[in-house]
Amino acid sequence: MRLDGRVALITGGTSGIGKATAELFAREGARVAITGRNAERGESVVADITRAGGSAIFIAADVRAAADCRRAVEATVTAFGRVDILFNNAGVFFPKTVPDCTEAEWDETIDVSLKGAFLMSKYTLPVMIAQHRGVVIHTSSGWGLVGGALGAAYCAAKGGLIVMAKAMAIDHAKHGIRVNCICPGDIETPMLDDDAKKRGMDLDAYLVSCADRPMGRIGTPAEIAKSVLFLASDDSSFMTGAALVVDGGGVAD
Ligand code: NAP
Repeated sequence: MRLDGRVALITGGTSGIGKATAELFAREGARVAITGRNAERGESVVADITRAGGSAIFIAADVRAAADCRRAVEATVTAFGRVDILFNNAGVFFPKTVPDCTEAEWDETIDVSLKGAFLMSKYTLPVMIAQHRGVVIHTSSGWGLVGGALGAAYCAAKGGLIVMAKAMAIDHAKHGIRVNCICPGDIETPMLDDDAKKRGMDLDAYLVSCADRPMGRIGTPAEIAKSVLFLASDDSSFMTGAALVVDGGGVAD
């Protein structure tokens, strides 16, 4: 029970990495608020956590909208009284070169990952500062550290999160707040299926190409959730401003 008594707010908790993390955090004793736009998937995650004896709520929110982010933080504090962990995990990916990327796709990529993390942090940090305690984790990517084919907008957003975390870590260490990034490699989630479709590739062939890394396979959402738990818990008590790569050796290659 490494998160006993803690309250976690997770964006993109309706699917993939966010869902697996919400479920693990609840098993580790946290009360969990998950957000996303899809209420049906959100309520289903809450039902699963509740059935397993955990405590969770769903708040429908689009991280691109300041009013939604503010409401998500307020609803979490109303339900659970505090926010100890903010996991800025919502993200989208459009595989495009710069000439092919529309302005709308660029804006959505940056607004969901980077501006969303800014807005959620903007409304959560005052709560954490008043508590003199908190942990913020952004979901970056291996592609926040190195470039990737058809990834200009995504790499810009994910790279931005890594230096944003460092700047936040400097500003808020004195408030008892740690800020880090998790950098997953290819992980078996709906985002990867969607990516194969957008590239017009057969899913099996695409997954084989994604597995081309030293460990010879892609990762699971549960493997990322365990690393996020490490960053969220006191096990990482001397870590701030760091980017933790969990990618089967992908960016080491
Ligand atoms: P996923 O299953 O597609 O989940 C994406 C999540 O983001 C969903 O819960 C979705 O919720 C949420 N989201 C998207 N747009 C949103 C918006 N405007 N407002 C609020 N929530 C929004 O993909 P995933 O792989 O778990 O991705 C989670 C994070 O990991 C992303 O930041 C992604 O970039 C990153 N990542 C993934 C991989 C990978 O290989 N899968 C690798 C590196 C990094 P709703 O649909 O309910 O809005």
